[in-house]
Amino acid sequence: MGSFLVYKGVWERTCGRVAIHLRYSHGVQKLVSFRSWLKNTYAEVLFRMGLVSINRRRWPLILHYHRIDPMAFDQQMEYLTRWGRAISLDRALACLAGEEIPVPGAVVVTFDDVYRSLYDDIRPVLARHGVPATVYLVSDVTGSSNALWFDLVEWGLFGWQGDYGDLLPESLIDAVIPGDARGTRRRALRLLRRFSLDERERCVDEILKQAGLALNEVPDRYRLVSWEQARTMRKEGLITLGGHTRTHPILTRVSQERAWDEVAGSKGRIEEMLGCAVTHFAYPNGQQGDFDERIAGMVAEAGYRSAVTTVAARLRPGNDRFALPRWGIDDEDTLATFAVKIAGLWPRAGIYRRDR
Ligand SMILES: [Zn+2]
Repeated sequence: MGSFLVYKGVWERTCGRVAIHLRYSHGVQKLVSFRSWLKNTYAEVLFRMGLVSINRRRWPLILHYHRIDPMAFDQQMEYLTRWGRAISLDRALACLAGEEIPVPGAVVVTFDDVYRSLYDDIRPVLARHGVPATVYLVSDVTGSSNALWFDLVEWGLFGWQGDYGDLLPESLIDAVIPGDARGTRRRALRLLRRFSLDERERCVDEILKQAGLALNEVPDRYRLVSWEQARTMRKEGLITLGGHTRTHPILTRVSQERAWDEVAGSKGRIEEMLGCAVTHFAYPNGQQGDFDERIAGMVAEAGYRSAVTTVAARLRPGNDRFALPRWGIDDEDTLATFAVKIAGLWPRAGIYRRDR
C-alpha cells in the first residue's frame, strides 16, 4: 500500500503566509503552501480514480533522487516496473540520438551525491526490481570521513537547541526568521550557495565550532560511499557511476580554472579509483543559472557524453544531451505524486529552455 495523504485541511498562518497542514500515512507531517496542497490533491484524485497511465508518455523521463526512504522507494520501483519500464541513461541517450526507438513509459533513475544509504538500502531494492540507475559521485568527498558542505550545515543547525541567532555567523544573520527554524535553515543554505567558496567554508567551520561538532564525528547518515563500495556497485553492473564534481560547488560561481578542475578532476579521480570510463555528469544544484553554455562546453571537452540538470521538464527530441531535464522525487512524494510525475502529468515546475 502506498503512502497517501490521510488528513488535510488545517489552515495555519506562518510568516504571514497561509499554509496547510498535511499528514501522510507514512508518518511525515508538514506545512505546505496552498499551491503544493493543490498539486498533491490533484495527484491523489487522478491516481485514485485510475486516470494515471505511464504508457501514454512516449519519450523517456529522467528521475532525480538525492536521499529517499527505502520502503517508499521499493513501492515506487514496484509501481514503475509493473506499469512502466525502467531503462538506463545510455538507452535514453540512444533515443535522443535517434539510434533507438523510444519505448512508451520509459523511466531513467538517477541519484546524486551517493550516500552510504544508497549502497546499504537502495542498491538491494534496485537489484530486486532489476532497475538500472546512474549515480553521480562527488569525488573528493567519496571515500573520506568528511561530508558535503550542505550536510555539515544541516548537521550543525538541526542539533542546535538554542536560538539560531546565537549559532549563525555574522554574515548569515539575515537568514534568521524568528520562530521559524525550517525557514531559517532554508534561507541560510540559500545565502551560503551565493557566497564565495572561501567565505562559505569559513561559515561552515564557524557553525560547526559554535555547535561543538568535530569533523571526525560526522554521523553515518551524511557519509558518502567508500571507494570499495563504489567498485562493488560497478562490478555488479546495474549501477553506472558518473561525476558530480570534486567538491560540489556551483560551477557558474567559481573561476574558469576551478570549474575545469572540478569537472575534469572528478572524472579523472573516479576513473583512477574505479578503473572504468566515466561518461555521465550531473551539475551541482542543477537549476537554471547553475550551469550555462560555457560550463556545458567544459563538460563535453572533459570527455563526458551527457550532463543532467535538476530542471523539471520532459525529455523531448532534440534536447541538448548536456542539459538533460530531470524530475525530482523525495520523501515528500506519495505513490500518487510519483505516479503522476512519471506519467508526465505533474504541473510543470519550470520550463526547460533548449538554449541553456
Ligand atoms: Zn549534489
